[in-house]
Amino acid sequence: MLAGGVGGARFVRGVREEVRRHRPGASVDVIVNTGDDWWLAGLRITPDLDSMLYTLSGQNDEVRGWGRVGESERVSAELQAYGVTPEWFTLGDLDLGTHIARTAWLRAGATPSEVIARLQERWELGVTLHPATDDEVDTHVVVADPGAPGTDENAEGERELHFQEWWTRHRASIPALRFHQHGLHRAIPSVGALDALLGADIVLIAPSNPVVSIGTIVSIPGMAQAITASPGTVVGVSPIIAGAAVRGMADACLQAIGVATDAAAVAQHYGARSRVRHAASGIRGLLDGWLVASEDAAAVPVVEEAGITARAVPLWMRDLDTAADLARDAIDLALELRSRP
Ligand code: GDP
Ligand code: CA
Repeated sequence: MLAGGVGGARFVRGVREEVRRHRPGASVDVIVNTGDDWWLAGLRITPDLDSMLYTLSGQNDEVRGWGRVGESERVSAELQAYGVTPEWFTLGDLDLGTHIARTAWLRAGATPSEVIARLQERWELGVTLHPATDDEVDTHVVVADPGAPGTDENAEGERELHFQEWWTRHRASIPALRFHQHGLHRAIPSVGALDALLGADIVLIAPSNPVVSIGTIVSIPGMAQAITASPGTVVGVSPIIAGAAVRGMADACLQAIGVATDAAAVAQHYGARSRVRHAASGIRGLLDGWLVASEDAAAVPVVEEAGITARAVPLWMRDLDTAADLARDAIDLALELRSRP
């Protein structure tokens, strides 16, 4: 599976449940977005991997939707008082334990893949988490700033901020001109990600943010090729229901890359695996199948026109059962496509 943080974790939990109920023996590997990662107070923070870790281990705060249950923020208050961390980003005390452990291991020479492997040893997750890459490719957002001088990275009149500042501090309210992943051209997929893709029967693309979660994973050089070369059948789930991002601010990201907030538009953006998307490179699209919401049934023929088999099913993950039903629908579509001659 390819997934981002909170939305991705809901779906992964549904897949894990469906596998437990109906497909014993199947193993699930999750390739998690690392574009939201950053350094803060000398610590490496990996929000999407942590959302996965906490959700799948039952440690996450279901009311707030992120972070750990029973969290306190005493250390964060001290860090803010010293001006080490900004007031708009709170690190919970329990959460800080994870970040300190991670950073200690990184400093001792472990790779991010080795770090997440050690972190998940503590809990019975029932799935295996992999960072999309072991390289740092933190996402930055370029925004207009009429007074700003030009730099190597940005044109005159533009400024760049870390994704976390744009997302958490500004709630994506400043229009993004484009996204820029530092160090992307030097990055390669993690070994765990490549092994999972090249050994898969089914590849599921979670209903995660198509730009800053899935888009970031797929932009890592070699990742799109590994997906198109995978022996697995690729089925994605729309994160857009009835023209709206279900939870969160994916519309602000889609707008920046010129894609409509629409279930069919996102499928067309991912493209059909059967068709070449970039003539120069010969890179094909990602999808064999795509699930849209029952409300979006009219999108089915539009998606199929693009060479992708589509189905309309309930897409709201309200609880574990609805998430597991959605997982079943995605797996069923993949199996149906695999059984075709
Ligand atoms: P983040 O990294 O925490 O922002 O989470 P993700 O990128 O994994 O997922 C965020 C996206 O999940 C949102 O933009 C929503 O469009 C989508 N999402 C959240 N809940 C649901 C749901 O119940 N059903 C569907 N289909 N999509 C959802
Ligand atoms: Ca995220």
